[in-house]
Amino acid sequence: MRILCVASECYPLIKTGGLADVVGALPLALQEEGVGIKVFLPGFPDVLAGLSGLKEIAEIGKRAGKKARLVSGKTSTGLTIVALDAPHLFGFKGNPYVGPDGKDRPNALDCYSTFSKAAADYASGKFTDWRADILHAHDWQAGLAVAYIAEQAATKGEYSPKTVFTIHNLAFQGLFPAAEWKTTGLPKSYFTRDGLEYWDQISLMKAGLVYSDKITTVSPTYALEIQTDRDGMGLGGLLKSRAADLQGIVNGIDTDVWNPKTDPELPQGYEIGKLAGKRTCKAALQGQYGLPVKPRTPVFSVISRLTSQKGLDLLSQLVPMIVDRGGQLVLLGSGDKALEAAFTMAASEYPDHVGVQIGYNESLAHLIQAGSDITMVPSRFEPCGLTQLCGLRYGTIPLVARVGGLADTIIDSNVAALSKKVSNGVQFYPPTVEALADAVDKSFKLYADKKIWNQMVKSAMAQDVSWNGPADQYRQLYSEVIND
Ligand code: ADP
Repeated sequence: MRILCVASECYPLIKTGGLADVVGALPLALQEEGVGIKVFLPGFPDVLAGLSGLKEIAEIGKRAGKKARLVSGKTSTGLTIVALDAPHLFGFKGNPYVGPDGKDRPNALDCYSTFSKAAADYASGKFTDWRADILHAHDWQAGLAVAYIAEQAATKGEYSPKTVFTIHNLAFQGLFPAAEWKTTGLPKSYFTRDGLEYWDQISLMKAGLVYSDKITTVSPTYALEIQTDRDGMGLGGLLKSRAADLQGIVNGIDTDVWNPKTDPELPQGYEIGKLAGKRTCKAALQGQYGLPVKPRTPVFSVISRLTSQKGLDLLSQLVPMIVDRGGQLVLLGSGDKALEAAFTMAASEYPDHVGVQIGYNESLAHLIQAGSDITMVPSRFEPCGLTQLCGLRYGTIPLVARVGGLADTIIDSNVAALSKKVSNGVQFYPPTVEALADAVDKSFKLYADKKIWNQMVKSAMAQDVSWNGPADQYRQLYSEVIND
């Protein structure tokens, strides 16, 4: 079985969010199960610099007078990467989607159509003698690859791989003005309501949704939510019409990178049943954030993009409640300027209770997961969510909204779950300030009961959050698609 995974991000080379984690870890897990898999990425400087044994595998000709080539190399984790080295498209440092001016990068359609065409051609064996059985495209950046395959399969008798398209977040759809259609290189007949047109715009997300053999998304609950008008982001009808080909598979996390026993970012490791190291991490975290070092004070944490999706505006209204109850809150994240300002202000108002770091910081994220007691994910919608999975692994109890993958991965500490000793978190719904306040109140009460809390920590750490189960499901799906 040969799979070409096509995406714009891949940990540890380039990452802005969960997509990179999935694209970095799922192929590794599949590789361990004997699947032949390569990851196709844009040749950003960080991608090319992070690969070992880099070599050219194909010249792919000139486009608008500019040269592009395919290169191949390995990540430090052992993945084979094929990258489109086209400096005129991808030769910039920093965020792949947003420029230093904070605006979307202006030539994104050109970048991702060239990228997707190269991926489709490579998967079809047009550049080398390697060809894929399945091209697995992730999110809108790779959506066109699916349409190019469909078009070549329909019109040219050339070898064409099957296609799987995964939605990581339906909120980001890759919309472009209709006037730029020519850039896609597709026939005009593809620009219809049944094709890539979305309210007179070009939708790269639709390219993946309409033309793929199978669609997956990152949790069963999100797979249902996105078929509705309420959560379908304007694509609910289309997704409903494809329900028979749509499957939700919960993400895992890389349990080597996220291993509290061996994590090099921690002052002391720990494991289930041996939690002295977690207490050391808590003291280190409180120290790092300039908070009083108090072992029995519950530390709430947030590691997140600061956007309205993540429901952090709800939390910002509850900071005084956490302070009044004697808790501490540490936050790491960046995004919405109003939210950044609100939390920064809270930190200066309550320096003994609130610590805030605006920015992106992998190693601090590890210390926060280890050193805090409650990891908060109060999202309005959440396709899967990875933060709560890391929290489980580090014995840090997730407090989450009951939506999407948060509903599928967290067992609420309701009476039945507590009596069966299986609860591993706190859920609330709907995503409102009132419901979140109740969940915060409940967390304080649970934390105060040492016996119950220890049981919850134990259940959390015992949960399998690895890629083993999900990778099996993807492998099974690939087999079905190939044999269809
Ligand atoms: P999303 O992809 O919507 O941002 P996920 O929960 O799926 O959310 O994945 C986010 C990942 O990025 C998690 O691994 C989380 O810990 C990490 N992360 C988010 N913000 C930061 C940050 N400021 N610093 C370090 N890691 C972060």
